Amino acid sequence: IEETASQNDKLAILGKISAAIAHEIRNPLTAIRGFIQLLRPHLLQLGKDEYARIILMEIDRTNDIIHEFLNSSKPSAPEKAVLRLSSLLRQTVLLTESEALMKDCEISLQSEQEEMLIAIDAKQMKQVFLNLIKNALDAIEEIDGRKGEIHIRAKSEGSNAIISIRDNGSGMEQASLKRLADPFFTTKEKGTGLGLSESYRIIKNHGGSIQVESSIGVGTTFIISLPLAN
Ligand code: ADP
Repeated sequence: IEETASQNDKLAILGKISAAIAHEIRNPLTAIRGFIQLLRPHLLQLGKDEYARIILMEIDRTNDIIHEFLNSSKPSAPEKAVLRLSSLLRQTVLLTESEALMKDCEISLQSEQEEMLIAIDAKQMKQVFLNLIKNALDAIEEIDGRKGEIHIRAKSEGSNAIISIRDNGSGMEQASLKRLADPFFTTKEKGTGLGLSESYRIIKNHGGSIQVESSIGVGTTFIISLPLAN
């Protein structure tokens, strides 16, 4: 899917809008962060320090995302570090587990080679995988009568890592498939339509590519290709 000039214009507008609201979002986030810190000793006593840790991590990630959006009008090169693909995927799946549990959805992760190394901006790439998994969970929420399943698979193919994320959710029509990279394209009541356009941009900045296969009533598969570091 190619980016068009109008998509770039939209992203520039988006940069301006987010600059305006970022400040307002940061204030309550700082308050939430402070109160969680205060609660932390109590959570520790209850044996729930893990929850505090996740909340803090997610608040920090939210701050990072705001920061990213602020910079999206002047796209910054990713800050790359070499790391293990399988552990990045495991960390990301962990973050979606409570939502998956609530939606009675099973997420399976299969990494064919444990040692696949990729040179990536971990925060950006985590955001990509989170966007894709959350979309899959949303698509699964729309189906009745069968158990939701998300299969994530990583393998190497030549000099690339191939990551596929397959869901048995609602699937998409051809018309939607064509618009996935458009900022603000959404079919959800509370959607922003920014998750995928941002994900496409990140993948492209990493020298990778993204493909989609989808069929109504059957499900959707996103296939990401990223250059291997080893
Ligand atoms: P949002 O999730 O806010 O709508 P996205 O850019 O992440 O924004 O997704 C855009 C649209 O693409 C969604 O509204 C949905 O219609 C469609 N979509 C994305 N992923 C899936 C999926 N796994 N299954 C079905 N539809 C999807």
